[in-house]
Amino acid sequence: MAAIICSILPDIDIFGFFIGVRCGDILGHRGFSHSLLFAFLVSLVAIRFACKDYRPLSAPWRKLWLFFFLLASSHGLLDALTDGGLGVAFFSPFDQTRYFFLWTPLKVSPIGLEIFLSPWGREVILNEIFWVWVPAILILAAVTGVRRLYSKGILREAEGIEA
Ligand SMILES: [Zn+2]
Repeated sequence: MAAIICSILPDIDIFGFFIGVRCGDILGHRGFSHSLLFAFLVSLVAIRFACKDYRPLSAPWRKLWLFFFLLASSHGLLDALTDGGLGVAFFSPFDQTRYFFLWTPLKVSPIGLEIFLSPWGREVILNEIFWVWVPAILILAAVTGVRRLYSKGILREAEGIEA
């Protein structure tokens, strides 16, 4: 649950639309909540509540913190791969410059359920399946396959490492 929250929490800035926050403001869409500092803070909160049993800064704690940090920052990284809207303020609040990557294959998602159910929304979903979900599933399958080979000892034997 903490992992899911880390990955979607940056879009909490959408609620700013309802109280008059402009897109380009520090709290605007893809502003501070999409920054690396926000990801850092969210990862600390996530590990505090989701992994109470680990001693802070111990090896397993650091691994889980990195996991949560990568999840929280992946949101902004994926948004910077989109072809619309404002860029991502990765370095907010220190620098409000908005960034996109040079390669932006992802179609920007519409905001609002009604528009999301339109042909544009369908196009966005298909585009995301192609550029995000299919590669993610392939990576997951590859990692799972490699883990199985390790668990069966096949890769250890090939590398000459004793179990
Ligand atoms: Zn976002």
